[in-house]
Amino acid sequence: MKIPFAESFKIKMVEPIRSSTRKEREEWIKEAHYNVFLLNADQVFIDLLTDSGTGAMSDRQWAAIMAGDESYAGARSFYDFKDAVTRITGFEYVLPTHQGRAAENVLFSYLVKAGDMVPGNSHFDTTKGHIEARRAEAIDCTIDEAKDTQLEHPFKGNVDPAKLEDMLAKHADRVPFIIITVTNNTAGGQPVSMANLRAVRRIADRYRKPILIDGARFAENAYFIKTREEEYADRTIKEITLEMFSLADGMTMSAKKDAIVNIGGFIATRNRDWYEGARTFCIQFEGYLTYGGMAGRDMAALAVGLDENTEFDNLATRIKQVAYLGKKLDEYGVPYQRPAGGHAIFVDAPKILTHVPKEEFPAQTLTIELYLEAGIRGCEIGYLLADRDPLTRENRFGGLDLLRLAIPRRVYTNNHMDVVAAALKNVHDRREQIPRGVRITKEAELMRHFTVELERL
Ligand SMILES: *Cc1c(COP(=O)(O)O)cnc(C)c1O
Repeated sequence: MKIPFAESFKIKMVEPIRSSTRKEREEWIKEAHYNVFLLNADQVFIDLLTDSGTGAMSDRQWAAIMAGDESYAGARSFYDFKDAVTRITGFEYVLPTHQGRAAENVLFSYLVKAGDMVPGNSHFDTTKGHIEARRAEAIDCTIDEAKDTQLEHPFKGNVDPAKLEDMLAKHADRVPFIIITVTNNTAGGQPVSMANLRAVRRIADRYRKPILIDGARFAENAYFIKTREEEYADRTIKEITLEMFSLADGMTMSAKKDAIVNIGGFIATRNRDWYEGARTFCIQFEGYLTYGGMAGRDMAALAVGLDENTEFDNLATRIKQVAYLGKKLDEYGVPYQRPAGGHAIFVDAPKILTHVPKEEFPAQTLTIELYLEAGIRGCEIGYLLADRDPLTRENRFGGLDLLRLAIPRRVYTNNHMDVVAAALKNVHDRREQIPRGVRITKEAELMRHFTVELERL
């Protein structure tokens, strides 16, 4: 008998979770204005809201926490963190921040001006927010294949070189840098190939533009390069990540993802002028240059997490769990962005709730229904998240409308995945009885999905 793939850890500490009744959940979600961000976490059974800061740290990371150096300036933990970042990314200059969006805020304060345009593959919501808040524009040049959830493509996160080239030919003078998000979260946790990174580099060089990698899930991206791009099959994850970053000028990082810490982030770059330009903003917004919004112990755990999660076995354990959930949903006929991504399954809501018009937010409706069904919290990555067009103030219905089931790293077992799949099957089976969606009663101008209030129609 073929011995199955085995997860690369065992469990040393547990945290009890509690299920609830449907009646309780009906009350709770109403009180939360049908926005799952407004739920109390104790009202959730299996929490797939996000994979951000929700991972389980290893025993080595907890040991590093105890040994953290809390000196204000020049802490040993800062140098351990900086050395780990430089060793894994090749970037010489490192600025710590408290999380990914803070890295964006600090770096974009230096790089982005009103009237600028920032092309790339799909920009993450806070990235887009930090661009648009500076009255600049985020231009999505993702390949069209990403828009068809049922199409199989190994690198659905790729930048379309023709779209990028066309954009630069028209507007190069307004472009401060090109941004590539790996993996492409908004398109479904889909990877970007090394060949695509190289193609973007060639175009960037022709227009003399720097490339910034939004690297929240760079290690998961490297796993896909190793397993799907033939010439990388025999390379280690660490060799692949070094090559990925060699094609860029710098990165912003949410360490809450692929560094498996509960808080943390950074900017890393080979450009001295970026470092010097961003440095003052780091001190202004985050903290002194050797802690930038993190405690010494956070930086110590981050350094260990980066090292551990750029090892193949750790990544394989995680990404195979996401694929496991995908396979269950295949059995039940639930449509999602194919193939399964690195950190999450993105369920194609309009393909399920065919009676709910886009104006009534199908993915948000599906998010609510899954919570009601079994206390599982997913997250809408769709029309609510897309915000309104800053100029016309119209809802942006042009993209996908997905329910994201983000899987925290090293937290849930495949038994939990079975529960999630069964609950989603039940909602799918009664989809015809869900005729209406939700209406917005209160919303913020930017990044509304975190605080939006809704009513059920
Ligand atoms: C999470 C995330 C960010 C923002 O990072 P935070 O740590 O949540 O502030 C930026 N880009 C991508 C791709 C992300 O997934």
